[in-house]
Amino acid sequence: MTTQPTTWPENVIARYLTVGGATVDITYMPADGLRAVCQGERCPWQDREFTGTAYDDSVEDVDRKITTALLPLQIRAQRHAETCRAMPKPTA
Ligand SMILES: [Zn+2]
Repeated sequence: MTTQPTTWPENVIARYLTVGGATVDITYMPADGLRAVCQGERCPWQDREFTGTAYDDSVEDVDRKITTALLPLQIRAQRHAETCRAMPKPTA
C-alpha cells in the first residue's frame, strides 16, 4: 500500500492516483488557468483548460468559472490516471 503525503503541493486543487503509483496533479494559477500534469517519470501527458477568469472577477465568479472549467479536465485526468503506468522517480 502506497502512503500518500498529507499535504499537496502549492496550487494543486485536484489530484488523481495513477495505476503506476504517480499522481496527475491539477493546478490553478490565475494567469495560467487550469493545468493537469502527470507526475509519472517521463510521462509526456499534460492537458489544460482555460477558465476565462478576469482580474476584476469576484471571488464567487472565479470559483464558479474554475468549477465549470475543471469538470472536463477532471474527466480527462481521471482517464489518464486509469491507464498510465509511468512510475514516479524514487526520491532517495
Ligand atoms: Zn502519465
